[in-house]
Amino acid sequence: MNIPENSPVDEYIFMTASTTPRSRDLKIISQFPLHRLHFAAIFKKNARKLMLKSKNLKTMIPVAILAAVGIFMTMILPGCASSGRGKSWEQQLGAIPQGPTDPGKMRKEVRIKKDMIQKGRFGRRLDRPMTPRFITIHSTQNYTGDAFAHAKALKRGALKGGVCGYLCWHYTVQDNTAIQHIPTNERGEHADFDGQGNRESIGIEMCEHKGNNQARTIDRTAKLAASLMMEHNIPIQNIVPHYHWPRRGYSTPNKNCPHFLMDKGQPKATWKWFQDRVEGHYNRLVAYQQMMQQKQVPTSPIPMAPSEMQVRNFEPIAPLQPARPQSRD
Ligand SMILES: [Zn+2]
Repeated sequence: MNIPENSPVDEYIFMTASTTPRSRDLKIISQFPLHRLHFAAIFKKNARKLMLKSKNLKTMIPVAILAAVGIFMTMILPGCASSGRGKSWEQQLGAIPQGPTDPGKMRKEVRIKKDMIQKGRFGRRLDRPMTPRFITIHSTQNYTGDAFAHAKALKRGALKGGVCGYLCWHYTVQDNTAIQHIPTNERGEHADFDGQGNRESIGIEMCEHKGNNQARTIDRTAKLAASLMMEHNIPIQNIVPHYHWPRRGYSTPNKNCPHFLMDKGQPKATWKWFQDRVEGHYNRLVAYQQMMQQKQVPTSPIPMAPSEMQVRNFEPIAPLQPARPQSRD
């Protein structure tokens, strides 16, 4: 069948695209020019409605372009827009100070307390060494328990689940401290059962109990993450939300966690704001490292040269001749 441009077949295709095509429809569609089929595919849901407004494809093209731009903008804009929550937290916290920072100083600012689960028990009952390549950020969604309560619960095996039978993660952060529960070279049970999230990432939980300052908790978490990035050579793109690790067998595999850093359940502008905050702290540590490397330059072999020159320079002066006249006496 020969289909002329702008024939009623245009309309026919839009009709069939909006419903389940029968074999006869498919035969006709297969003869239709490819660029026109593309439009049919985009508008298969609204084809019937659009078709009523315009009689042929020529008049539909501007509508199609406008709609395509609209769809594109809706998909792209939420990711580009700045985060309102991020701005509000930034106002409370202030901008990250400029200039180098000693990693030891930053760790002190985080106020890490070690309160480890006993080796060989509960979340640490199996010997499972880990080389961390990622840092996974969570929030507790527990509105009554602070970091100390979580430490207690982990130490008495109160949180059951995961592959080894007990949940565990590396740090719990609240507005004034961070508690460490397991060493960073041991795997935890906090993300995705036996997936990469548990096998290769350090898990950090942010507290949400009543009275806890959210902005300060987030910033303390960002500093802790920056320190761990430096310590374990982890790149910024490997700082991920729990959302990043799909959980097999769940109807919603990608968990909305940490929920207050997600936009409509997904890592977009607010997560980007957090990642930038981590990177800002990390850059200060990098600046310190570079400063120390520059300071070490004078101890390199190059400075040997001036001292050698000094020895040579002494040579002409070396003949301490006045001794001779003395010997004449
Ligand atoms: Zn989580």
